[in-house]
Amino acid sequence: MGYLVLARKYRPQRFEEVVKQEHITKALANAVTSGRLAHAILLAGPRGTGKTTIARVLAKCVNCESGPTATPCNICRSCREITTGHAADVFEIDGASNNKVENVRELRENANYMPAHSPYKIYIIDEVHMLSDSAFNALLKILEEPPAHVKFFFATTDPNKIPITILSRCQRHDCRRVDVDSIIKHMALLCEKEHIDISTEALTMIAREADGSIRDALSLLDLIITSTNGNIGTELVVDVLGGLDRQSLFDISQAVFDRNTGKIIEIIGCLYDRGQNMVKLFSELLEHFRNLLVVKLGGSADGLSDVSEFELNAMRNQVEEIPGTYLHQILDILFKEEVNIRYSSQPKLAVEMAFIRVIQIRPALSIDTLIEKIDALQKGLYESFSGGDTPHLMDEAAIQHESGPERTAENKPPASVALNARNYPAPLSEKKTRPHEVKENQPPEAFQALPEIHSPKADKEDDSLDVSWENILAAIASDNPALSACFADSQLKKIGDGRLEIVFRTNQFNINYANRDSNRSLIQIACSQYFGNDIQVAFSGQLAKSRSGMAQKKEEKLLENETLNHPLVEDAMKIFNGKIVEIKIL
Ligand SMILES: [Zn+2]
Repeated sequence: MGYLVLARKYRPQRFEEVVKQEHITKALANAVTSGRLAHAILLAGPRGTGKTTIARVLAKCVNCESGPTATPCNICRSCREITTGHAADVFEIDGASNNKVENVRELRENANYMPAHSPYKIYIIDEVHMLSDSAFNALLKILEEPPAHVKFFFATTDPNKIPITILSRCQRHDCRRVDVDSIIKHMALLCEKEHIDISTEALTMIAREADGSIRDALSLLDLIITSTNGNIGTELVVDVLGGLDRQSLFDISQAVFDRNTGKIIEIIGCLYDRGQNMVKLFSELLEHFRNLLVVKLGGSADGLSDVSEFELNAMRNQVEEIPGTYLHQILDILFKEEVNIRYSSQPKLAVEMAFIRVIQIRPALSIDTLIEKIDALQKGLYESFSGGDTPHLMDEAAIQHESGPERTAENKPPASVALNARNYPAPLSEKKTRPHEVKENQPPEAFQALPEIHSPKADKEDDSLDVSWENILAAIASDNPALSACFADSQLKKIGDGRLEIVFRTNQFNINYANRDSNRSLIQIACSQYFGNDIQVAFSGQLAKSRSGMAQKKEEKLLENETLNHPLVEDAMKIFNGKIVEIKIL
């Protein structure tokens, strides 16, 4: 017996040997065993996925001497004839070369005769979509009223070209593309049977090149086996396939991440010399970067197109330090460049230019990183304005302790004058000595000033809380001015033992910003430090409603009058012999 190519030698003879089409083989096996097999079956799907093979196995199932059965014996005369392709009652017709109406008429006449020695006459028409319109019409006649001893098994790669009248009379089954892993496993099994030593990487390359077709994969494997006598490694496969090894894709993506233009030009040039099609290379690279992004976003092998476990790990390593936003940027550019490359008369130059553009982009920062940077910048500015001598929570609290409790509702300065608690004059000596005292005393004196919080008098408590809140905000401002600014129009309220609520009215951005986990915990820590015990802080942020212009003006006028008549302002004008230049509403 002469040499048989792998695809023929190992053609599946039973349903369970068919790779990756269980959804079809199970349905057909059930139909056969329950005696409900349709008289016309259409098998659609990409080439090399097993359509004709399934049709042949099905023919055996129907005509096996021990049948009908889902597991044909492969020993009886009928089974053996079908295996060798010489069965008297099974006709394999190539639709592409027998597409005329006369061919179908012949078929119809022949179909009327009873089968020679099997239960059924079976017509397997491959590439049935190639039939002419009149041939389809002739076929329709027999499909409408088929003789009881006839079965039709059609196979097609293009079911859309089959007239709807034919389709509606067939039971349709769609074959799936075979995934890379299944092709690898199948080839590895055959290599083992053939005692061929081949690396998994080499099998992966062949499987990818086969593009979902088992037959193509086996043909390539045949070609590679005949080109060598010894072990089959990746280099040989690259040579035979004339092109692209997967390592080159990883090398290019690494050069992009390293921003190494020279390396990319070198790899592309090398692949070009090996005869690699540049358009195909670019589409492989596009898919590679897409896969890297999916891996970065935590995707599993299922979400990736044709990636083996071996490659998945390599991808994980490569993108570990690369931000997802940067991968997005790269993909954006590559997608835009794809059209140029496809229609370019110089595809090699076009691919090189595309990657030079990719390398020129600066990786974008994530929003979180940007906000952190702005915060750091604001902090720097704040410190430089206050001469680096930023008042600290404890110092400030100690000063407030002196002046705070005395300031009751009557002598508290109105909000409209730019004299807030922190500007309130305190004796110079106090300022200098207090901080030391606070640091020495444990617990700090400032915290002992807190009994007011637990005082039953509600109004006094509110005042004290206002002052405390100002102090806390001032302390936060020294480290995080942006956060402090969020609470510009806010109030601290006590809602239970050790529980405070911050009520603030502001815009959506500020509410979102304040609600970040890190910022919430900052506030919580600042409050707990200030009050000296564990404080739970709840937020109730509301969107500030924009007031109507009239109402706002009226309110401002009222405040201005109140300010002008305030005794403190009058005193200040007398003492400093000043005059009022401007009143600012803060
Ligand atoms: Zn049999």
